[in-house]
Amino acid sequence: MKRVLKLVFCIAVLTVLLAVNAFGAELFIIPSAGAETVLREIPTSFVYNADWQSILETLSNPVTVPDTGEVVMENTDNTEAAETTDAAEETAEAAELTGEDAGTAEAGADAADTAVAGGTEETTENTEPAASQTEAETATTPVATNNRVVCIDAGHQSKGNNAQEPIGPGATQTKAKVAGGTRGVATGVPEYQLTLDVAMKLQSELQSRGYTVIMCRTSHDVNISNAERAEIANNAGAGAFLRLHGNGAGSGEASGAETLAPSSSNPYCSGIAAQSQALSKTVLDGLCAATGAKNRGVKITDNMSGINWSRVPVTIVEMGYMTNAAEDAQMQDPSYQAKLAKGMADGVDAFFGL
Ligand SMILES: [Zn+2]
Repeated sequence: MKRVLKLVFCIAVLTVLLAVNAFGAELFIIPSAGAETVLREIPTSFVYNADWQSILETLSNPVTVPDTGEVVMENTDNTEAAETTDAAEETAEAAELTGEDAGTAEAGADAADTAVAGGTEETTENTEPAASQTEAETATTPVATNNRVVCIDAGHQSKGNNAQEPIGPGATQTKAKVAGGTRGVATGVPEYQLTLDVAMKLQSELQSRGYTVIMCRTSHDVNISNAERAEIANNAGAGAFLRLHGNGAGSGEASGAETLAPSSSNPYCSGIAAQSQALSKTVLDGLCAATGAKNRGVKITDNMSGINWSRVPVTIVEMGYMTNAAEDAQMQDPSYQAKLAKGMADGVDAFFGL
């Protein structure tokens, strides 16, 4: 009888152990699987960027500089936002950097506002990142580009948009979608008008040289954020993305042209940094050679949404200071605008080795 009891007891114990084991296994397996799923869904660059963001926020921007000696790493005066003063230079720089990528965008309005010039067939072969990549990887992977496709973004629009957007893929830091831009101190002409006037001249110049040109906008009354402008260039597989702007400073004495490019350690678009710096240099050199404008050099910055969201070679061209009376007036001269366009086109040719 004792044997029977022992046997029953042993069977009971074994049954309990098996039940606990199964239950326990479930306890472990379910959360474990859930945790893995969550981890996989967190973009790796989000974590990465968070670290970079804290680093970037503690450093004044622009950051970094390649050892080329051709790329100058210093703070810029370019204010794509509103007027700034030399007295508040550091504050102004932060504000202006914020301003650059400010803009407007109501969902849905962008596609309709986006004007595409030239054929787009050539873009169909552009390779999209493999489906197995995470969204974050996809968002930062350079797009295979067609060399003869150039995307032009006439900076700003008739009304800025202070609604926020991440400054790059996976970024927690946000900036206004599009800033209002500056205004000519002598002519009163708004920046968004200057940029489109020159952009359309550049479009014609490039088309005459055989390029396919994609325009982010061809009118002022649009609502396209800086990130969305970058997406237009990405989707076009542009071999070069030129973002035209007019500069601003508080003193009125600052003059000359400069271009902006991302650093090689940019957390969002380091893959296009080298090409973007090269593009920035050739375009700036071409512009200055054609116009005689003072060459202020290539400036490195990682705070521009329209650059950070780009997956094709990109440069911001600060064509001249609208806060400098002489330069402002000059930039409203159609013949000078033609020189600006020719010079930038020369720079694009040089970038493509033509
Ligand atoms: Zn601007």
